[in-house]
Amino acid sequence: MQEIVGLGIRELRQLLDKKQVSAQEILKAHKKQIGLYEKEVDAFICLTDELSQKQASLIDERIGRGERMPAMAGIPVAVKDNMCVPGYATTCASKILDGFEPAYEATAVSQIIAQGAVLIGKTNMDEFAMGSSTENSAIKKTRNPWNLNCVPGGSSGGSAAAVSAGFSTVALGSDTGGSIRQPAGFCGVVGMKPTYGMVSRFGLVAYASSLDQIGPFARSVDDAAITLTAIAGHDRRDSTSLEYFFDNQNRVTTTKNGTVDFSAGLSEKSPEELAGKMRIGIIKELIGEGIDENVRQLILEAAKTYEKMGAIVEEVSIPSVKHCLPVYYILATAEASANLARFDGVRYGYREKDAKDIMSMYLGTRQNGFGDEVKLRIMLGTHVLSTGYYDAYYKKAQQVRQLLKNEFDKVFSKYDVVISPTSPSVAFEFGSKTDDPVSMYLSDIASIPVNLGGLPGISIPCGFSKNSNHGSLPVGLQIVGSSLADAAVLQAAAAFEKATSFHNAKSPLLERVSV
Ligand code: GLN
Repeated sequence: MQEIVGLGIRELRQLLDKKQVSAQEILKAHKKQIGLYEKEVDAFICLTDELSQKQASLIDERIGRGERMPAMAGIPVAVKDNMCVPGYATTCASKILDGFEPAYEATAVSQIIAQGAVLIGKTNMDEFAMGSSTENSAIKKTRNPWNLNCVPGGSSGGSAAAVSAGFSTVALGSDTGGSIRQPAGFCGVVGMKPTYGMVSRFGLVAYASSLDQIGPFARSVDDAAITLTAIAGHDRRDSTSLEYFFDNQNRVTTTKNGTVDFSAGLSEKSPEELAGKMRIGIIKELIGEGIDENVRQLILEAAKTYEKMGAIVEEVSIPSVKHCLPVYYILATAEASANLARFDGVRYGYREKDAKDIMSMYLGTRQNGFGDEVKLRIMLGTHVLSTGYYDAYYKKAQQVRQLLKNEFDKVFSKYDVVISPTSPSVAFEFGSKTDDPVSMYLSDIASIPVNLGGLPGISIPCGFSKNSNHGSLPVGLQIVGSSLADAAVLQAAAAFEKATSFHNAKSPLLERVSV
């Protein structure tokens, strides 16, 4: 039964449709994989056993009744623990939410469940999604399935590791500055941040509201596209969620009626049909200084792969990229300082005991409930918004954000997509960056501009770094499109996946699955 683990959505769906396997057997196989390796990986904060069992039996009943099943029927999905699922704690990997159980469900979660998915567990993350290695979790450390001495990336490290280790077929994460793409790159899987507003954020605990976006992790572009199709669309409970996007033919299409299929045509077409006519830019600022040489070489090889398909690949410049890190850490912390003000001991989770008055209760709760990185960011955010500093920092950062957007617009008037490494290096060792926040922040240098621009971006496996101290570790290729051009990004990603075999390489834990 273990050969079930590692299969993609369409393969599992075929087995289900032909009644060669049941949803309960799919669940059992994944639970077995979790039983074997979760001790080593620690991807989950909690397993949603009761719920997954119920959902899998329901799917089997429906199949038994001869119902036509939706796209993700019986597919095990892991969800980052900053999305609400009633009946289970939502912790955001923070002590401050200790004991908090949401009364409502995140729309993205409702949408995958409506498509028949089986929710297998909630995954570890950096506290409140602040971090790049999942080391900021107040609960546990998640290990990279490719090398257990290395971080899985972050902040959605648990979701990336779960998919890479074969604990689930796909997973949901959130990406504010790279938290889907960077861990996807580190764990050798596909991770996509859709256009800002493409997926409802209702029920996602807010970090930085002008940047946050939910998206899928998968082991193939097709699976990511199927999952995105399930979660995309307008939601009246999130006024920032959009109704429109561009489809494969560059037509404006509505997401309202559930008619959108981001995976349409991806599996049938050849790489040449998918990307042969594309104009692709390589972001000059992201393949030079500060980028690991092996990573750089692999990105240049990826460019050659696209050229072989017939695409035109040229260097493009987006000069404001060099300012993105400070701009992001001003805007994200400013927004976080406001969003995290609600955790005060009154409304959610943890409350400081034996406080002598309300003020010391607030202070004690926040002092003991939040971890160091979160406190650092609240202080930084409060500072940049304060009188006297607002114009110098916050306003200036907003202006540079606009400049960056203009530069992206200019590039996208000539190019369909742009490419870069997902991160400057491969997965690093635990503890190697925890004492130096800036070196940690630098791991998002390539992913952050995409959030600031509100653009769709994907990370797909594009090879392995050969001379690292930790054996062979996966490298991610980032593909970015203009706002709403999520279909074009998926198309370029699917073309690369078809032309290469990097996505077939499995993490050692998944490789060990006995066939
Ligand atoms: N690593 C970045 C940060 O710490 C991005 C995190 C994210 O995307 N949630 O803010």
